[in-house]
Amino acid sequence: MNQSKTQDFLFQKIKTLKGFGVKIKKLLKKKKIDKISDLLWQLPEGFTDRTNTQKLNKLEIGKVTTIKVQATKYNFPRIRNLPSKVICEDETGKIDIVFFNSREGYIKKILPLNEKTIISGKINFFKNRYQMTNPQYMVPSNKEDYVNKIIPKYGLTEGLTEKVYRKLIDQVLEKVSNLKEWHSNDIVKKLGNVEWQNSICNLHKDKSNDINSKYYRRIAYDEILANLLVLSQVRQRIKKFKKIKKKFDESLSRKIIINFNFSLTENQRKAINEINNDIKSEFKMFRLLQGDVGSGKTIVAFTAAANVIKSNWQVALMAPTEILANQHYQLALKIFKFTNVNIKILTGKTDIKEKKNIYEDLGNGKINFLIGTHSLFQKKTNFNKLGLIIIDEQHKFGVKQRIELSNKGGKNCDILLMSATPIPRTLILSTYGDMDVSRILEKPVNRKNIITLSKPENKIDEIIVYIKKKISQGTQIFWVCPLIEESKKLDYSAAVEKYKSLSNIFKDRVGLIHGNLKKDEKNVVLNKFLNKSYDILVSTTVIEVGIDFPNANVIIIENSNKFGLSQLHQIRGRVGRGKEQGTCILLYKNNLSINAKKRLRILKSSNDGFLIAEEDMNLRGFGDVLGYQQSGIKLYKIADPIHHKDLFEIAEEDIKNIELNENNFKKYNFLLKLFDKADIVNQISLEKTI
Ligand code: ADP
Ligand code: MG
Repeated sequence: MNQSKTQDFLFQKIKTLKGFGVKIKKLLKKKKIDKISDLLWQLPEGFTDRTNTQKLNKLEIGKVTTIKVQATKYNFPRIRNLPSKVICEDETGKIDIVFFNSREGYIKKILPLNEKTIISGKINFFKNRYQMTNPQYMVPSNKEDYVNKIIPKYGLTEGLTEKVYRKLIDQVLEKVSNLKEWHSNDIVKKLGNVEWQNSICNLHKDKSNDINSKYYRRIAYDEILANLLVLSQVRQRIKKFKKIKKKFDESLSRKIIINFNFSLTENQRKAINEINNDIKSEFKMFRLLQGDVGSGKTIVAFTAAANVIKSNWQVALMAPTEILANQHYQLALKIFKFTNVNIKILTGKTDIKEKKNIYEDLGNGKINFLIGTHSLFQKKTNFNKLGLIIIDEQHKFGVKQRIELSNKGGKNCDILLMSATPIPRTLILSTYGDMDVSRILEKPVNRKNIITLSKPENKIDEIIVYIKKKISQGTQIFWVCPLIEESKKLDYSAAVEKYKSLSNIFKDRVGLIHGNLKKDEKNVVLNKFLNKSYDILVSTTVIEVGIDFPNANVIIIENSNKFGLSQLHQIRGRVGRGKEQGTCILLYKNNLSINAKKRLRILKSSNDGFLIAEEDMNLRGFGDVLGYQQSGIKLYKIADPIHHKDLFEIAEEDIKNIELNENNFKKYNFLLKLFDKADIVNQISLEKTI
């Protein structure tokens, strides 16, 4: 097959392959195999070695084994539904081959008496005898070559047999002739000089390949680069949108900054500069402001807002929850108090009359700054001249959602996304490569590290004494209940139990919040905690991360080894946001595993979200770290950021070179298609949607 034919072939639907019925196609669909290329990524999970036949006195129970035997006696049941049995022997022993649901004629044909047959299957032991039930293979010994192979094992769906599946994949591998190399010579050399076709065939056929083999690494690199390429293209496209330049002077934002009762950190200043330069430029801003919890992102965003407002454009800020929106709103009122900036809040709770006024004043430009939840972006909100959208992102946005966001304001609208999700270094580019990134790596100087302690659960009496003392000193307490095996129902009952037992001691000074509450009910509880009607707030993991509870400085996290490190770090970030010292107590059940101990130790010794994310990934494997499994955004199916760290580094360099010459991108079209990434870039539009 020539080059372009191979390419077409790979993107054809699976149903164009020959020799398979509707049933198989349905099963493949269940495994999300739709195009022929999808088959390639289902790498074997292991291999069965059939190259050696085993003598019957050397059998191991439970192992898939190939034997060469002759049938000596048939034993067909007189009662239906009982299995048939064939006694077989070699010179060293005997074995029963057992068949369920097979007819006599078939068995006699496939296992003729006194003829050597090669049989492969799993060895069992039953009533003092070896047996094999429904063998995978039975062939006459003169066809030995056929059985004596190393055979790949795939993760199969019920009903899809290995034989059928292998026939499929063999058909495909046979047809993929080599394709013109898309990587530069330099890169190919770094990858060990292996070609694509050779690599993919090897991974399906040769059992000596593991995640570090050069064939595996070649394919992993392809995937990493495809990911970076698509993000790079998104970024370049968005940044090429010419916009009306915003002319501003920094007089307003300077005044705001002077009024803070603290001075900005170096990183905050740098971020403000980067953002200002983007806003002033003739190209659309598409920037991420990344910083750990409590690093002071909000202030940075507000100075950007001030500058945009000063240049006569409107600004919208979207927060993930009502309470957070309200908190931002209150802060904005304070910060902009001495100016004539008109600020309004719009959430699901805003009453109809007020909403109407807001819509009107947005349309005529009287409102300069609108803060709210996602109700900001409903059809009825029509801005007069929207120049900046700021998103305080607590939820995880994937690249597609970010593109949607960029589309929303049209080409004149700058975009600033804030994120506190700590990301291991290797993954930064593949997570956020579509945006320019400003990072705040340092904490405000007056900020003390959160003191983190761990205690076994049976010391709870000591904890109660401790929090009583803290409460008497005017501190409020978060009490986070364990995550029980991902079950919301159990999470809930654990929190209710804890609420009851703490209420016995602290009476009506305890509040409870959990995922089953409605939004409004949650807000009531959170507000009561904010205005100090409660001393203790018991919660499942649902409490909002970004809210400032300046008076809550102790957090107790139960069964802490059930959480991921990054998650624990974010949860504890709820305390210690003000001037007071924050304390976090990690409770654990006795008999912690070594790994669990290690994790708690990391948390106790570090307050750096990025370092913690890195360690978390090393301990748990990368799949879990970013919560991709839950959010359904899985970044990689082949590559592994832990094992292939060096490949990520090579790709970072590679992408810089590729970006230097735009024509280069065309070379990689096939690669993008291969990894299902070709369509993403086309979703970028210039049209305004709000
Ligand atoms: P986050 O990055 O988590 O959104 P915030 O912007 O909410 O953090 O800031 C957390 C707290 O730190 C706020 O109370 C804010 O006023 C304060 N803060 C921000 N920058 C500084 C600074 N440079 N020095 C001291 N405190 C600061
Ligand atoms: Mg925040």
